[in-house]
Amino acid sequence: MPELPEVETVRRGLTQLVEGSTIKTVDVLYAKMINLPPDDFKEALRGKRIEKIDRRGKYLFIRLSGHLTIVSHLRMEGKYDVEPEGSPIDKHTHIIFHLTDGRQLRYNDTRKFGRMNLVDTGAEMQVAGLKTIGPEPTEKDLTVEYMKRIFAKSRKVIKPFLLDQSNIAGLGNIYADEVLWLSKINPKQPVNTISLAKIKVLRKNIIDELARAIAGHGTTVHSYSTAYGEAGQFQNHLNVYGREGEPCPRCGTKIVKIKLAQRGTHFCPKCQRLRGVKK
Ligand SMILES: [Zn+2]
Repeated sequence: MPELPEVETVRRGLTQLVEGSTIKTVDVLYAKMINLPPDDFKEALRGKRIEKIDRRGKYLFIRLSGHLTIVSHLRMEGKYDVEPEGSPIDKHTHIIFHLTDGRQLRYNDTRKFGRMNLVDTGAEMQVAGLKTIGPEPTEKDLTVEYMKRIFAKSRKVIKPFLLDQSNIAGLGNIYADEVLWLSKINPKQPVNTISLAKIKVLRKNIIDELARAIAGHGTTVHSYSTAYGEAGQFQNHLNVYGREGEPCPRCGTKIVKIKLAQRGTHFCPKCQRLRGVKK
């Protein structure tokens, strides 16, 4: 599943490829993917210029002329690519934006879980999932005060807490495992038992790790690739995710994989001991 660094990489790719382009017509090959009847969607987008691509958490905002925004969530397997008009259509292509310059922006999705909502610009935060979204994992938005407050009032365990986008935007299964390893926090540690000193370490690791992953163009797992069709490089820098049975890069203990809240979870049992709670 694309996480924040992968979606940010797609945003940058799309910006280079289609910012400033104009939509001629749109084909909707899978109507369930959009929030409007296909004819309304096509009519609204006809002749609109792609002005800018923004992002919030794992959501892309495709800003169009006429005060319209497409809110695009890639979910499990969604991706965009740009092809010349007339090149063969993949069976997983569901939406085609024909551009006036003879290219097509295509949305492909093998699992069909991705969604596009066309809304008036300014109404994007009313889309389900965005209404309750937590702060961006940046120095400016993810403050120590905010972290301290949400950590004090939750009895959940930390791993699923980090995956909940209403707490912090953008972390998924891979980076949640990585930041917990970097911070030496057990994935089952109850949130309200984590010290302020540890919260500060975790906050810094979340901000830094996602910035590093963005710089590395994200992680390639399964079918994810950038809007250029390149593979991300950051999987080479992962310390625990996907490394069950391999030595911990810090202490050499074998990395363990468990199921936690239905998600595969990787950690070092020595560096990431459960602290101050009965097992
Ligand atoms: Zn270790």
